[in-house]
Amino acid sequence: METRLAPLDAGCANPAPPVVLRERGQREVFCGLTGIVWLHRKMQDAFFLVVGSRTCAHLLQSAAGVMIFAEPRFATAIIEERDLAGMADCHDELDRIVHQLLERRPEIRTLFLVGSCPSEVIKLDLSKAAQRLDSRFGGRTRVLNYSGSGIETTFTEGEDACLAALVPEMPPAELGSALQLLVVGALPDVVEDQFLRLFGELGIDAVRCLPARRLADLPAVGANTRFLLAQPFLGETARALEDRGARRLEALFPFGAEGTTDWLRAAAEAFGVDRMHFNRVVAPGRERAKRAIAHSHERLRGKRITFLPDSQLEVPLARFLSNELDMVPVEVGTPYLHRELMARELPLLPQGTRISEGQHLDRQLDRVRADRPDLTVCGLGLANPLEAEGLSTKWAIELVFSPIHGFEQAGDLAELFARPLRRRDVLRV
Ligand code: SF4
Repeated sequence: METRLAPLDAGCANPAPPVVLRERGQREVFCGLTGIVWLHRKMQDAFFLVVGSRTCAHLLQSAAGVMIFAEPRFATAIIEERDLAGMADCHDELDRIVHQLLERRPEIRTLFLVGSCPSEVIKLDLSKAAQRLDSRFGGRTRVLNYSGSGIETTFTEGEDACLAALVPEMPPAELGSALQLLVVGALPDVVEDQFLRLFGELGIDAVRCLPARRLADLPAVGANTRFLLAQPFLGETARALEDRGARRLEALFPFGAEGTTDWLRAAAEAFGVDRMHFNRVVAPGRERAKRAIAHSHERLRGKRITFLPDSQLEVPLARFLSNELDMVPVEVGTPYLHRELMARELPLLPQGTRISEGQHLDRQLDRVRADRPDLTVCGLGLANPLEAEGLSTKWAIELVFSPIHGFEQAGDLAELFARPLRRRDVLRV
C-alpha cells in the first residue's frame, strides 16, 4: 500500500500542472463483469457466457437479471477437482455448455467467454478455449473472450476489454477509401441516434459505431478511419484501433453543452465541415442544453464535490460541473488516469483541484471526512456509511446506467447531481 505524489504533464496549455496523488491499496469498486449489464442490451446478437463462480453469478443476477449458463455447473466442477485431470474435465464441460447453448440459441452471432477471478477460473486458458470453440462454431457464431475479472478490471474496464476484443474482428478498410468516422463506446440507442442525426446534418455521412448493434455490421477499420471516443474509459480499445491504422480525434467528452460542442467540432474539423455550417447545425441543441442545465445552476453553484474513484467518468464530469454549473471539485479520484485521453479535460479543471489515481480506501475516506464536501460521488457500498455521517452522496453507478451524453441529456445529467442536494435540503426542513 502506498501513496505517491506525481506531477502531471498536461502539456503547455496548463502552466501549473496539477499534482496527482497516486494511491495503491484496498479499493471499493465493482469488477468488469458489470459491463455485461449494458453491453448485452447494446449488442443484440451477442451472448456473454461468464465463466465464474457463484459470486459472479450473484453480482450479475442482482445487477441485471442476466442468465449465467456457466454457473453453477462449471464453477462447482472446478472447485471439486483441482488437479490436472480436473482441468481437462473443465475444458470438456465448457465445450459441452457452449455446444448446448448454441444448439438452443442459433440466433447468437457472437459468444463472449468472459473470464473472472476465482483461482479455479484463472487456471483456465480462456483465449485457447475461445480459439478452439471458434474453430468449431466460427462459421456460424464467432467465439471471443475477454476478462471481466475484479483482479484485472474495474467497473467500466469490462467494456474496454470487450470492445478491444472486437477490434481484430473488424474487416480492413479498403486502401484509398474515403474518410470514415467511428464513434467508439456503447451508448443507449436513442443517444446514438441523436448523434448520428447531428453528424448527418453536418454532412458527415460515413459514420459507424463500435460496438455495432449486430456483429454483421461491424465497421471496417484502417488508415482512413477517424474515431471519437464517447467514453473516457476505452484506453485499450483506442490503442487497438490505432494499431489498425485509425486515428483518434482529440476532444472533450460529450458531456454538457460545451463538451458535446467540442466533441462534434473535432469531427467537423477532421471532415472539413464549414465553420458557419457547423455553428448553424449545432446552435439549437447547444442552446437547449444550456437552458436545461440552467435549471440546476442555482442549486449546484458553489457546491463542493468529491469524486471517489469508480467509473473513470470522474474527470470529464468534474470538468462539466465546474465549467457549466460552477461547482467546486475538491477531489477528483479515478481508478486510472489516461493522460492522453484526458489531455483536453485536465487543463479545464480549476486550479487547486486534488486529483487522485487508484485508491487507498481508508486514506481517501479520511480526506472526505476532513473536506466534508456538499456531495460525494461514490460506489454503492460507501454511500450509506457516508450518509450516516451526514454527507450527501450520489451513486456513481447511476451515471453509467443513465443516458448522460449529448445536448438532449445535459439537463438530466445536471439534475442527477442536483437531486441528492434537494433531498438533503428537504430532509433538513
Ligand atoms: S469476477 Fe471476481 S470480483 Fe467479479 S464477481 Fe466474480 S469473483 Fe467477484
